[in-house]
This record gives sequence, structure tokens and C-alpha cells, in this order.
Amino acid sequence: MEARASSSFASFASIVTFTLAALVACGSDPSPTPSVNAAQGGAPGGAASNAPTPTSDSGAPGSSGSSEADAGAAPGGPPPSNGFPAHWIDGTACGADPDIQTWQYDDRTFILRESLCKNFEGPFVYLLVGTSKAMLIDAGTGHVNFQAAVTKILQGLNVTVDVVVAHSHAHGDHVNGDGAFSQAAHTTIVGHSPAAAYQFFGVSGTTASTYDLGDRVLDVLPIPGHEAAHLAFYDRRSRVLFTGDTLYPGRLYINDWQSYQASVARLAGFVTLHPVTWVLGGHIELPASGQDYAMGATVHAKEHALELTTADLVDLNTTVSALGQNPTRTTRPNFIVYPLN
Ligand SMILES: [Zn+2]
Ligand SMILES: [Zn+2]
Repeated sequence: MEARASSSFASFASIVTFTLAALVACGSDPSPTPSVNAAQGGAPGGAASNAPTPTSDSGAPGSSGSSEADAGAAPGGPPPSNGFPAHWIDGTACGADPDIQTWQYDDRTFILRESLCKNFEGPFVYLLVGTSKAMLIDAGTGHVNFQAAVTKILQGLNVTVDVVVAHSHAHGDHVNGDGAFSQAAHTTIVGHSPAAAYQFFGVSGTTASTYDLGDRVLDVLPIPGHEAAHLAFYDRRSRVLFTGDTLYPGRLYINDWQSYQASVARLAGFVTLHPVTWVLGGHIELPASGQDYAMGATVHAKEHALELTTADLVDLNTTVSALGQNPTRTTRPNFIVYPLN
């Protein structure tokens, strides 16, 4: 999340000065207390209850499954997946929970969740390991040490690879953890500005590029709108699309409406040409059912599942397209469109 405070939030921001610093510039309104009566969203070791079980070649609705639809995907399908945990650390057990929950999604893909007890943003960070490089998508808020977690994972895999610290976008809850990597050996931290990130990945304008971690090719897609430097990453190996703060089960803050509309339309087009098993974003801000958690809440009882599908991306595209030039807060089953201007 981390929306920039805009004019529509200026009065709120000036009043709630005691939380603004802690919110790391997250502009929002004080949302009502969520319902906590819903069932847990995740199923042990398997697909979330809110989403259909994907097949190895599942694509967007309308995807034909033809050779064109499989363009760029790893032959033979993705490696076996462990699915998702039944429970992410959610701020309900701060005395017992670790600072970082590490989940091995497949043999070389890891999902790490920063504890809500350390910072209310509780971002999700992703580690993709290739044969020559490992790439971390986002570095967290800076309140926990993701560098140590990455080192432990790579040691566990018994691999020696360079580490690239990339970012879905430049908001503080995704880049402030960079400091832990600044002195690490064989580690490159990608710059935060659009120019720096685009240059690193070879992205130009709205044209996607590819980046190879060694037998593991990623598509890198520029998707400004939530934030100017925002990138999506599609992993051809796992067939997971990483969407940062552009799409996740929560409030989708939109700073630049027209750019966001165009970016989401491009993403929706992308998934008609590539098989996508899951769409994974940067946060969870919804319970499995009921209203979104209050802004800044550090307890997320009975969270919505992290994983979304291409159907949600299609829904997002349909929703923001239908709003045209009238950006309006719109609640959908698995996300909330939340324009800031
Ligand atoms: Zn965020
Ligand atoms: Zn953000």
C-alpha cells in the first residue's frame, strides 16, 4: 500500500499527525472496524477457498491454451508447488510469531511475510532463485532483516548466486529494507526511480522486457499508476504474476488514474498470452469476508487469502475501464479500487 497523501486526504493527514509518520505516508481514511467472523481464507497446503484451483496451463478467461498462449512459459509446466500456508502471521500472536514468516512455494520460490507486529504494512516479499542469480521482489519496511532471511534460504538450498534486490515500486514499505543489503557481498540493489529501474531491466516506455536469473526468465512490465516506478514481474518458471501494490486483496490506492487504467489493461492483455497460475501482490488488507481492516491496523484476524487469479485481474480491468474518466472508490469481491485524486 502506502498511498501518497493527496489533496483529498490533506485534512485527514493534518489532523492525524500522530499516525502519519508511522503510516509511512500511507494516505487513507479511517476505515470501519472489520468483521472478524469470517472463516479463514486459506486451505492447508492448498488453494485458497476464495479462488479456483488453477491448472498448470490456466490462463485468463478466453485464453485458448494454444501454443501462442503458452509463449515463454517453461516447457512441461511449472514445478510442483506447495500451494500456500493455511495461516500467515497476522498480528494476533506477537509474542510467538517470528519477525518474518518464510513459505517455500516451490523448490526455488519463496514467499516471505513481514510481521504486522513490526509494522502495520505487513508486506509480502518474494524470492525467486535461478542458477546464476536470486531476485528479491521488495525489501520490506526496514523493521525486519530480510537480508538474513535470504541468506538462510540460499544456504538451505546450498546454492551460491548473486542477489538482486528489486522492487515492485518505490514506496517506503517496499524499499526501506534495502539498508540491510547495502553491505552484503555479491548483492545489487536496483534503484528506485523509474529511470533507474527501467534502465536496470531494459524497460522502455510501456514496453516490457525480460530478465534472466539463469534458467529462469522473468518478464518485466512497467505498470505505473499506483506509483510511477511500479513494475510487474511474470515468472515463466512458476507461472506466477507478481503485481505489487497494483493488485492485491485490499485497498488499491491509485495516484495516477489514467496511467493505472492503461497499466491494468496491458496486464490483462498480457495474461491472455501467458499461462498464469496465481496473481500475488504486496499486502493483504481484507478479511476473508467483511469490510477491509482499519487503516493502520496491526491485527489482521482471519485474513483473506494472499493469492488472486487472472479472473481478479480481468475484474480489475473491467472495473477501472468502466469508471472511465470518473475515478470512484469501488468495492469488488477481492479488492477495493481506491483512487486518490
Ligand atoms: Zn505497499
Ligand atoms: Zn505502494
